[in-house]
Amino acid sequence: MPGIVGWMPARNARHGYAVRLDWADARSGGVFHDFTRFTPSRLRAERRAASARHYWAPGPVRPLAVTVVPIDRPAYRDHDRECFSTHCPTTAPLLGLTASDAATPAGHPHS
Ligand SMILES: [Zn+2]
Repeated sequence: MPGIVGWMPARNARHGYAVRLDWADARSGGVFHDFTRFTPSRLRAERRAASARHYWAPGPVRPLAVTVVPIDRPAYRDHDRECFSTHCPTTAPLLGLTASDAATPAGHPHS
């Protein structure tokens, strides 16, 4: 299913952080992401991101990037798995990926 693009910079009490995992998709050549471990605490999110990096480090399959992103709880809850949207929360450009590079079609090419 297409990603939810309803994310907006919210300034309410639901604001928090999630660990964003960016993955290379061998099937489409694109990059997709998941959000995990929502928490209102940025510090906790940073710790979880660090532990996620350690968790994936030894494996043959690793995320391209593990970052902490600001996101509110409803957006986190509604976010799809394996999302290809480039409009989702991110704290840093993906490994030099520019907007034009990231111009993969919205939604899931393999669906
Ligand atoms: Zn997304």
